[in-house]
Amino acid sequence: MFGLIGHLTSLTEAQSVARELGFQEYADQGLDFWCYAPPLTVDDKIEVTSVTGQKIEGVYLESCFLPEMLAKGRIKAATRKVINAMAQAQKKGIHITALGGFSSIVFENFDLKKITKIRDIKLEFERFTTGNTHTAYIICQQVEKAAQKIGISLSQATVAVFGATGDIGSAVCRWLSSRTEVSELLLIARDRDRLNTLQEDLGRGKILSLKEALPQADILVGVASMPKGVEIETAELKKPCLIIDGGYPKNLATKINQEAKGKEDVYVINGGIVEHSLDIQWNIMEAVNMDRPARQLFACFAESMLLEFEKIYTNFSWGRNRITVEKMEQIGRFSRKHGFQPLLAFVDIANQNESGKNNGVSVEAETVVG
Ligand code: NDP
Repeated sequence: MFGLIGHLTSLTEAQSVARELGFQEYADQGLDFWCYAPPLTVDDKIEVTSVTGQKIEGVYLESCFLPEMLAKGRIKAATRKVINAMAQAQKKGIHITALGGFSSIVFENFDLKKITKIRDIKLEFERFTTGNTHTAYIICQQVEKAAQKIGISLSQATVAVFGATGDIGSAVCRWLSSRTEVSELLLIARDRDRLNTLQEDLGRGKILSLKEALPQADILVGVASMPKGVEIETAELKKPCLIIDGGYPKNLATKINQEAKGKEDVYVINGGIVEHSLDIQWNIMEAVNMDRPARQLFACFAESMLLEFEKIYTNFSWGRNRITVEKMEQIGRFSRKHGFQPLLAFVDIANQNESGKNNGVSVEAETVVG
């Protein structure tokens, strides 16, 4: 059995999803309530069928973590959400569980590996994976395939990675440096020492601020861990420009200035999202506004499904900045074998509504050959 530990992107979204899913007692409550709420098993009968015919079952656990908890200094609540959800997953006997979105960031940033026991449960960390290897692989596929689609040649392209020193960002940089021949790599984050180390490890890359990078980038990858995204002026972007926004909550895509309306030369893709070839019986992805909720999901969640299909019961992605290109290739092979494809649909930014849902999808996800 696989497990998914998820969370929503804001209190407002959480209240509305709780209402939609029939958890009325959560829907009417403010941040204080969410800080004390225990994890919820939202779906315990997820069934996924591989294109090989193999079937697996899984569980979705809502940790009740909200990014506002970090923004408002409710650190203890944030850490309790993650660790309690992990304990619950383990109690259910789940073989491998993905720590979605901020769950793994909270785990790492607050060094939760120090907590080895919750009540009577001794945590076995090998039962968990961050899902970041698959996420990084899928983002790289999105860069390569979408660039080709809109006529950006990677060998002449400048690619900016916002959140470059992070777990996913550094893996994306490694891939782009060794498996593609991008002309220039722009490295964006706040901590200068970590940026210098990354630059040394890669043997390339220019360290810039987001503002400096925007007018230079043909492709902008957003993988910064920000509780709230930043607004960028589309007028500042190079044209054409491809934006792959892999942040959860979004780093950039939903904040694109309305000037973008009608400008077809700014292409935005929801990063780190995969589309499965067969329907999955669940309602979770509808709640988070996926365009095709029966087929589309976060690549980190898909990683735990892939590990369950392959019966690899170990924390495939763990720790920080340890993702190798070889492991990205390995998870990529599993991903293709079981029928997952990177999402290549462009967000219709002209009609994007306030919730961030894409109203118009112009291009279907493509099958990756190989
Ligand atoms: P990490 O914490 O490992 O890395 C975050 C990176 O963002 C670091 O480089 C950090 O560097 C940078 N950063 C954070 N805040 C800022 C800021 N204000 N300005 C500039 N840079 C910033 O995170 P992960 O790599 O694990 O995750 C990255 C994002 O991907 C998150 O939003 C996460 O939720 C999302 N995600 C998406 C998944 C999917 O399936 N689509 C799966 C898993 C995660 P510094 O602190 O020095 O600025």
